[in-house]
Amino acid sequence: MKKYIFGNFKMNMSLKDTESYIEKFLPLVENSKNEIVIFPSFVNLMFAKQKLTASKVLLGAQNVSSETFGAYTGETGAFMLKSVGASYVIVGHSERRKLFLEKSDVINKKILEALGVGLKVVLCIGETKYERTNKKYKQAIEKLLADELKGLYENELKNIIIAYEPLWAIGTDKRPSTKEIEEVALIIRNKIKQEYSENSAKNIKVLYGGSINSQVAKAYCMAEGINGLLVGGASLNPQEFAKIANV
Ligand code: PEP
Repeated sequence: MKKYIFGNFKMNMSLKDTESYIEKFLPLVENSKNEIVIFPSFVNLMFAKQKLTASKVLLGAQNVSSETFGAYTGETGAFMLKSVGASYVIVGHSERRKLFLEKSDVINKKILEALGVGLKVVLCIGETKYERTNKKYKQAIEKLLADELKGLYENELKNIIIAYEPLWAIGTDKRPSTKEIEEVALIIRNKIKQEYSENSAKNIKVLYGGSINSQVAKAYCMAEGINGLLVGGASLNPQEFAKIANV
């Protein structure tokens, strides 16, 4: 079955690095049946789009403004991302929540902005170490979903991908077991069933993200209820990310 393999480059790679990355990466994934998406920084998006035109690899942005347009210095609106060829946008990444203090109300607005222009949204949610240790992760995940998907119509869920990214697993070389992520995938689907329908719960795409590398990619990708992977650090090396993308 087709898997969704997404690479978040974060604040890495100059224009030249992006060019050389894409030139090395594309031939390695040309036969992949998976949906592969790279998420370079804003300034490299347009250039990356040109380099990707002859391939099936898609483009995504790492963030989007919660406002539509106007006097918001330094912000990038959803319509701008769409106009340079992005298909996806990451919303609610834990680094944005932690370092830039983004809260659920802003994340909800970002989702609505992105959906409004036809972007697909990768909504990152996950529990803290404290919530995991104290068995509060179910509650935490359900609350994030309720608050951040507020106001969405059921037919919009086809453009939402939920990335389960436990905060304690990102960039740490620690990760939950595949059994633990299967449990969370079920928590996510049950919440979608409760808020929407059984059909949406079945169809929504759920990814896992957090310290994935090519050695563990297959096991995590094939876990029950998991449709793919969101990869940070390991996506910065084109050979390593290609191995993951070809699972
Ligand atoms: C991420 O930042 O979304 C991520 C999954 O990072 P890493 O793979 O480096 O843990």
